[in-house]
Amino acid sequence: MKNNNKFLSCAGLTILWFFSALSYASNQVQSIRIWPSPDNTRVVLDLAAAPQYKSFSLNDPDRLVIDLSNITGSATLPAISGDSSLIKAIRSSGDDSSMRIVLDLTRNVKPTVFALTPTAPYGHRLVIDFPEQQRIESRPPPSIRAARDIVIAIDAGHGGEDPGSIGPSGIYEKNLTLPIANRLAELINKEPGMRAVMVRTGDYFIHVNRRTEVARGHQADLLVSIHADAFTSPQPKGASVWVLSLRRATTEVGRMLEQTERHSELLGGVAEIIRDSANERYLAQTVLDLSMNHSMVTAYQAANQVLGELGTITSLHQAKPQAASFGVLKSPDIPSILVEVGFISNPNDERQLKSASHQARLAQSLHRALKRHFQLAPPADSLFAQQRAREHKVQAGESLSLLAQRYDVSVDALRSHNQLSNDSIRIGQVLRIP
Ligand SMILES: [Zn+2]
Repeated sequence: MKNNNKFLSCAGLTILWFFSALSYASNQVQSIRIWPSPDNTRVVLDLAAAPQYKSFSLNDPDRLVIDLSNITGSATLPAISGDSSLIKAIRSSGDDSSMRIVLDLTRNVKPTVFALTPTAPYGHRLVIDFPEQQRIESRPPPSIRAARDIVIAIDAGHGGEDPGSIGPSGIYEKNLTLPIANRLAELINKEPGMRAVMVRTGDYFIHVNRRTEVARGHQADLLVSIHADAFTSPQPKGASVWVLSLRRATTEVGRMLEQTERHSELLGGVAEIIRDSANERYLAQTVLDLSMNHSMVTAYQAANQVLGELGTITSLHQAKPQAASFGVLKSPDIPSILVEVGFISNPNDERQLKSASHQARLAQSLHRALKRHFQLAPPADSLFAQQRAREHKVQAGESLSLLAQRYDVSVDALRSHNQLSNDSIRIGQVLRIP
């Protein structure tokens, strides 16, 4: 059950944006920000208006070219802040109405380039993301790094004086969500490399803000909130999965930035050493921006996996993840999904939801989906990532004996594990590391 309106007026937003883009005769690059992180180097061009741009990559030497049209002030390169080992230099050239920005790179990385519309306090932005996958491969052998568990915060919807929706036979939503959550936690805790944190462990009320705080406190990789849907008529049936809407997420980013006391929380220890509040705000903004993108991608991908699994055991009310802002779906910094396991207001769904065997099937399908999601996209420091990294793609200059040394295994073990008849390996070959 949820109280907010599910429907978004995206069309209205699109039209507004279109007119604002047209209303600018010309544009200007105001600043360039570079922000490296372990998984990604982000470059942001701050612009006066929505950019008209083209981009392409070139090799030998590696570089990214961005051509902006309808631009004034292109003679001078704007102020650049930040630094990254990936970006050797940024150059620009231009004429009265166009500007070319060239990013000289230290290695070949395929970027993603996209524009972002204004969100207070940001203006128009052109964002270039360089994923750091290649660096992960060349890190020291993962076996010597400690691998952490992936933490799933499980939130059984409602509780205490908040019963949630009530089914035709009189069953309360809060009494369905808890056993499903408990079973899911049990399965997750049996899984090496995963750990469950229960947001609610009994029949008591927890404010929705507190639910998110619990997840944040445990540094959860994902918050899964379990609910049952309800409608005024008995017909609607089936499961659906909800993720935070982009509109709400960007509003929350703005709101969190206004609360200066939250900056230190968001920045961890970093804020302590920054005495300059303008810089602190800038950092908080960047951290939130990165974490919002990560949260939304994670939640959407996890939601898709969950729908895939739920679809095999129950009917789906919506086949695609739905975006909204209700319940726990309010934090841009915690990847969150809300699963409506069925309609408690539908007599058939209600009967199923009450049965322990169906609850077990729901928990199993959620577990399978979450496991698969994190196997496909494990956090870099997790056991899942370590297991995944026990493969090595042979690069130029590498030999079997060198790899054996690097991974601290014998050549014999490497050979037999990969069913090699001799010691020759070829570039691009993928070897499994025993
Ligand atoms: Zn509910």
